[in-house]
Amino acid sequence: MSKILVGLKRVVDYNVRVRVKPDGTGIVTDGVKMSINPFDEIALEEALRIKEKGAAAEVIVVGIGPADAQQQLRTGLAMGADRAILVQTDATVEPLAAARIFLQLIEKESPQIVLLGKQGIDDDNNQTGQMLAALWNRPQATFASKVELDGAKARITREVDAGLETIEVDLPAVITSDLRLNEPRYVKLPDIMKAKKKPLDVLSIADLGVSTDSQFKTLKYDPPAGRQKGIMVKDVAELVAALKQKGLV
Ligand SMILES: Cc1cc2nc3c(=O)[nH]c(=O)nc-3n(C[C@H](O)[C@H](O)[C@H](O)COP(=O)(O)OP(=O)(O)OC[C@H]3O[C@@H](n4cnc5c(N)ncnc54)[C@H](O)[C@@H]3O)c2cc1C
Repeated sequence: MSKILVGLKRVVDYNVRVRVKPDGTGIVTDGVKMSINPFDEIALEEALRIKEKGAAAEVIVVGIGPADAQQQLRTGLAMGADRAILVQTDATVEPLAAARIFLQLIEKESPQIVLLGKQGIDDDNNQTGQMLAALWNRPQATFASKVELDGAKARITREVDAGLETIEVDLPAVITSDLRLNEPRYVKLPDIMKAKKKPLDVLSIADLGVSTDSQFKTLKYDPPAGRQKGIMVKDVAELVAALKQKGLV
């Protein structure tokens, strides 16, 4: 029976107000709450549902990042994944390097489906799934808001500018999750205890023979401009007058 590989990226929690370092070289992460990238949590939930329907035998969560990324993998195991792989590195891993790492793991594990989030909420690249499908030479179904499996095929409903599009791909394939695919389950305390005993393999980038050399250089981070003070209007007529004065209507 088939396996599903799921990417779990460690990112700053989406509830945290991100602060840019005073010298603009990055964002402040010291003492900041880190979590699973929300799109990846949705990808994992979908993989678990596929397994619960009997269409997969094993769900393997994969993290690429520092030793601390084990925390997010343990959460993934507590949600229900069977085992975890951490490709440990302190280097910045850009989408192409991440895709190359996943390709190496695909060669080891031969999954039927690789489920990734459509984007990381930290760097917003929306590239890893697409690059992986190209490197793997297999179909991709991105922005999935519904996944239906039918033997060796998957029918995916995806959100596009014009509405919803339904496509069918042959498996193995890469699927990337959109926000509306599902609602991830909560982790219960007994599951956290059980997750401590589940296998978590740690590999190095060197084990996989992949380079993390950068394709681009980030020059500077700028915080968004602060919001201007608003004004209170007493009725619609005053609102319209104020908008007219600003040339907005
Ligand atoms: C669910 C969803 C939410 C989105 N939200 C946002 C948002 O919040 N903000 C935002 O900015 N955008 C958003 N977008 C993206 C945006 O609406 C467009 O989808 C996107 O900008 C165009 O990408 P594409 O998929 O058409 O890209 P592609 O088809 O990959 O095309 C990209 C570019 O490649 C070149 N190209 C591709 N094919 C050809 C060809 N045959 N000949 C010549 N050149 C070609 C063109 O230069 C083209 O513009 C969203 C999209 C989706 C689906």
